[in-house]
Amino acid sequence: MTEGSAISATVTERIVAEFTRVAMRELSPGLHIVATPIGNLGDITLRALSVLAAADIIYCEDTRHSRTLISHFSLGSKLAAYHEHNAERERPRIVERLDAGERIALISDAGTPLISDPGYKLVRDVIAAGHAVYALPGACAAVAAMTVAGLPTDSFMFAGFLPAKSGQRQSRLKELIAVPATLVFYEAPTRIAEAIADMANVLGDRQCAITRELTKLHEEVMRGSLQELASALAGTTLRGEIAIVVAPPIAMAASDEDITSALAVALEAASTRDAVRLVAERLGAAKTRVYDLAMTLKREGPLQREDN
Ligand code: SAM
Repeated sequence: MTEGSAISATVTERIVAEFTRVAMRELSPGLHIVATPIGNLGDITLRALSVLAAADIIYCEDTRHSRTLISHFSLGSKLAAYHEHNAERERPRIVERLDAGERIALISDAGTPLISDPGYKLVRDVIAAGHAVYALPGACAAVAAMTVAGLPTDSFMFAGFLPAKSGQRQSRLKELIAVPATLVFYEAPTRIAEAIADMANVLGDRQCAITRELTKLHEEVMRGSLQELASALAGTTLRGEIAIVVAPPIAMAASDEDITSALAVALEAASTRDAVRLVAERLGAAKTRVYDLAMTLKREGPLQREDN
């Protein structure tokens, strides 16, 4: 190692020894789902390298794109395409190869296959045909985004890409209002401003992290409330690849008193039904809970706070 290098010769030797140990193992017949980096080639795992080197064939979305990765590590393995346009035709062929005892790897352009990428139906059919499916975990933009967002991770929902058209996007966001979890989205850079504006309007002013180009040279995280980020991005576009993390609904922490106060205001202007719907949506609370509190409010008046 040269002076100033971050790792010592001993560490390098250990890494090589571990790779050699991993690579010595006989690769089992079956389908190996292999995660690849989302930008930084250093994020490939030792197991990914050994499986890609040993596989009889590697299925990928785009052979030209994946050739870069394969060439970079001199894996020299055979690449074949499996993407949305040939999947119906290729699936039975892949199952036939597995019937013949082959060791097959599936990768996507980047990250973990099946996560907003092809592979689910293949895995389903391979399981139905009685073959083994092996996971080789690694990079995934959704998980990477959550680790740097600074938002709760105890419960999360990966919501993938939102529809490109605003009306459909807002409808989808309405379905997600009450989900009591952190939400993770993928988004195209050209649509980021409108998507964040729709989120601010529909989901309420929650905390959010826009992560861009994770693991790459221009890695960036923009943190703030949805309103703040919507204002900052208005009329602009970003470049690169983007994953968005949005905090759970405020109502996860909303007390009965918070809901009752909101109901008292809403009931002045709306019917019970509309007030319940509005407050439930706004605070992300279950409608039945809000309805019960509305009935109590009507029967007994506002909740009395206990002094202590
Ligand atoms: N299977 C991949 C995974 O495991 O993350 C995701 C594939 S999906 C077709 C591609 C989307 O993932 C991009 O449009 C972007 O939203 C997100 N993405 C991929 N790489 C990223 C990165 N380095 N930083 C932020 N988001 C990324």
